[in-house]
Amino acid sequence: MKKRRIIRDIAIQRIKLLYKYAVHEVHKGNVWLAQRYMYIAKRIAGKAGIKVPRSIKRAICKNCLIPLVPGITSRVRLKSEGKGSRIVVTCLICGWIHRYPYKLGKKRVQK
Ligand SMILES: [Zn+2]
Repeated sequence: MKKRRIIRDIAIQRIKLLYKYAVHEVHKGNVWLAQRYMYIAKRIAGKAGIKVPRSIKRAICKNCLIPLVPGITSRVRLKSEGKGSRIVVTCLICGWIHRYPYKLGKKRVQK
């Protein structure tokens, strides 16, 4: 249905916009406001029946929803243990640790 697609498009646009605002608030020091923006973004996604875009999902804390800005709200470390290498992102607000595997020598095109 066409209407549904339009709703999804609007939802994605709003989520992206809210993320942009949230990052802006982090830079200004308004952590709680940034969390509030991302909470709203998640609710929009839920209502529209879509997933939060991967690029944004990875850029916010899973636990407290704060946008993870390196040096302000997060600490980023690269770790190579055993077989794989990992990106370890620590949320400086709630202490949540996010780990993402990554492969060396393989370029992924980000949209
Ligand atoms: Zn957090």
